Amino acid sequence: MSKPFEPFLLTYDGSADFHTLKRYEEREGYVALRHVVTELEPDETTEIVVNSGLRGRGGAGFPTGRKWQFVPSADKVPGPRYLVVNADESEPGTFKDQILLDKDPHRVIEGALISAYAIGAEMVYIYIRGEMPREAVILQEAIAEARAAGHLGEGLYDTDVRVDVTVHRGAGAYICGEETALLTSIEGDRGYPKIKPPFPAVKGLFGQPTIINNVETLANVPHIISRGADWYRSMGTDQSPGSKIFCLSGHMKNPGLYERPLGTGLLTLLEDESLGGGPWKDLPFKAVIPGGSSVPVLTADELDVNMDFESLQAAGSMLGSGGVIAMDESVDMMESLYNLSRFYHHESCGQCTPCREGSGWVERILHRFHENRGREEDLQLLLDIADQMAGKTICPLADALVMPVQSHVTKFKEDFLKHVGGEIPRIVPPSSWAVG
Ligand code: SF4
Repeated sequence: MSKPFEPFLLTYDGSADFHTLKRYEEREGYVALRHVVTELEPDETTEIVVNSGLRGRGGAGFPTGRKWQFVPSADKVPGPRYLVVNADESEPGTFKDQILLDKDPHRVIEGALISAYAIGAEMVYIYIRGEMPREAVILQEAIAEARAAGHLGEGLYDTDVRVDVTVHRGAGAYICGEETALLTSIEGDRGYPKIKPPFPAVKGLFGQPTIINNVETLANVPHIISRGADWYRSMGTDQSPGSKIFCLSGHMKNPGLYERPLGTGLLTLLEDESLGGGPWKDLPFKAVIPGGSSVPVLTADELDVNMDFESLQAAGSMLGSGGVIAMDESVDMMESLYNLSRFYHHESCGQCTPCREGSGWVERILHRFHENRGREEDLQLLLDIADQMAGKTICPLADALVMPVQSHVTKFKEDFLKHVGGEIPRIVPPSSWAVG
């Protein structure tokens, strides 16, 4: 019988000082960093992460070690390299990075320092979402503790390695989670995405080679260095090794964060008593968004799928950020899409016409449905607009609306038709508005 899975990312025990350096060092804190800095070359460090098969946990799932290898050598591109931590978690339904920063900041810092060492960076920027002021303070305190203890700064562990960390607070724009927008925001400009190539690994922050890694991705790195690539590959699937923090929200009895191996069944996550616990009011599930609000929604008949990159892609959706949003039979899927369209229209940076105008058109058409003034032909119009937006913009924000539009409209047509040609509900002013 295989051993039960033991979470290693979500190990918070409820104690008030869990986030401190003292407690982190009791959990073998900074042992992995000391090991790589004093005993391994940067290439050897990267090799371990490549062999582990770790893939980015921010949404795209790109292999982390291979990404590090894209940084050109100093003879090809001289000058500084940068490691940037993407802590701008803002995908609706996703709340895992915030907990890691709040409860285990040193784990993230250590992962970032190892990553910086591997790519030859002497400076780490942690770009944290503006809505996380508490976590920004916790991070700053953790950085000060680590510096005082000699885990960062000049001459690390009596070597000539130097690396420092600074926290950069964002102002709350969803688009700054996109890596090129994030970099322009750090540079002091408006957070506008840029066309790639050039990719940040070659020309990123201040025009220099830059790697951007997600918080959860980096939290894995010290464990991989300490326990080895084979240990990491003993969990998950062949192409999606390791564990994942799943964010369960919506109509479940036990919403919250759960760490499980990649490849865990979605139905297990939703219904196991020790996990989601099943639907909260015992109404059957109607739909589930498996990977944050921007991925295609699944119907009740499509929930028998494993939560890894390949299985969800084969099922026509995506693992994304691991934000699982469950909706029961009481949900009107037209209203669900209307809600999402308002968000993505609001967050469009406005550079690309298909995104700027298209997201506005989608919202306005859905507003008609919301007021029961929808037209049957509007369903095809929504799909046509989505088609004109898909893959024609600078960054993936347009597609983040396209995928919900296509999946909601095609899979839940009946919910839209209920809003066709109805009466506009009359707003009766309360009697207190009466004049005279
Ligand atoms: Fe801005 Fe949208 Fe274009 Fe992305 S797709 S750059 S958010 S307008």
